[in-house]
Amino acid sequence: MTLVESTRPDHRDDAERLIEAILPLTGKATRIGITGPPGAGKSTFIERFGLDGIALGHRIAVLAVDPGSKRGGGAILGDKTRMAELARAPAAFIRPSSAGSQLGGVARRTREAILVCEAAGFDTVLVETVGAGQSETSVAEMTDLFLLILPPAAGDELQALKRGIIELADLVLVNKADGPLEEHARRSAAEFANALRLIRPPVPEWEVPVRAVSALTGTGIAELWDDAARFRAALESSGAWQQRRAEQAKAALWAEIGDSLIDRFRTSPGVAARLAAVEADVAAEARNPVAAARLLVTEFLGTNN
Ligand code: GDP
Repeated sequence: MTLVESTRPDHRDDAERLIEAILPLTGKATRIGITGPPGAGKSTFIERFGLDGIALGHRIAVLAVDPGSKRGGGAILGDKTRMAELARAPAAFIRPSSAGSQLGGVARRTREAILVCEAAGFDTVLVETVGAGQSETSVAEMTDLFLLILPPAAGDELQALKRGIIELADLVLVNKADGPLEEHARRSAAEFANALRLIRPPVPEWEVPVRAVSALTGTGIAELWDDAARFRAALESSGAWQQRRAEQAKAALWAEIGDSLIDRFRTSPGVAARLAAVEADVAAEARNPVAAARLLVTEFLGTNN
């Protein structure tokens, strides 16, 4: 894990050899992406859901995607201290967030970390991310089931939620359905379910459930393991499961191609020498970005052909 997460360029070859070697042992786990705004109860949920899963015989790994720097230090996700009981369970493995500023790099390391967890025998891999646009999309693109956790909210607030993320969700939880918040949470869940009916579900064979749950008391949490199993069975029988994975693998390939080309581009001598000046000209609107890009790309190809 440390090797695949390393950002040292001289570790890359070894990491890639490792991934090649373990590849036959990977792919069997259910990969669950978890997102939601800060304070929605993600870590409380993961602890409860994880402990319930262990009681059912599952082995659970928890990873986090946290391109922290954008949020000024950001939340520390996947932190062991937030999931103290789960962290002590022998059937669980919790990996605190690998710090990183570039989402591309963090996403690559997380994709590979998922494979390492699978090879180590974990049948369920939870990938947590904080609600911050790009990282949510990125997690949805590396998991099988995408779970959105929301706090109880009023109708207006539900409307205001970014549509894009809701469209990615395979399962929506309105958390904190306990004590004085219970009614509120149930009403939010019903409103949400109504709103979701207007949106095309991510896969036709699955109607996205909206559940009012309490991560704190455990109400409705153990049942989610049934949802996950039903979801997997439905998608496997139609072929959508494999298709999703295949599309994700292709998207990862293209993301890597894009990232490594841009890396090479930025560091190639001809481009590196002119990049700052061209960027400044474009910023000052003294140059057309399209023409400037073409110039630099031609320069790059000239030095690399
Ligand atoms: P995260 O930022 O999404 O990881 O949220 P946390 O799991 O850290 O929870 C944020 C706060 O909400 C904490 O004070 C939790 O104790 C509380 N909380 C989490 N789940 C529940 C729940 O089901 N019911 C209630 N009443 N509080 C909860």
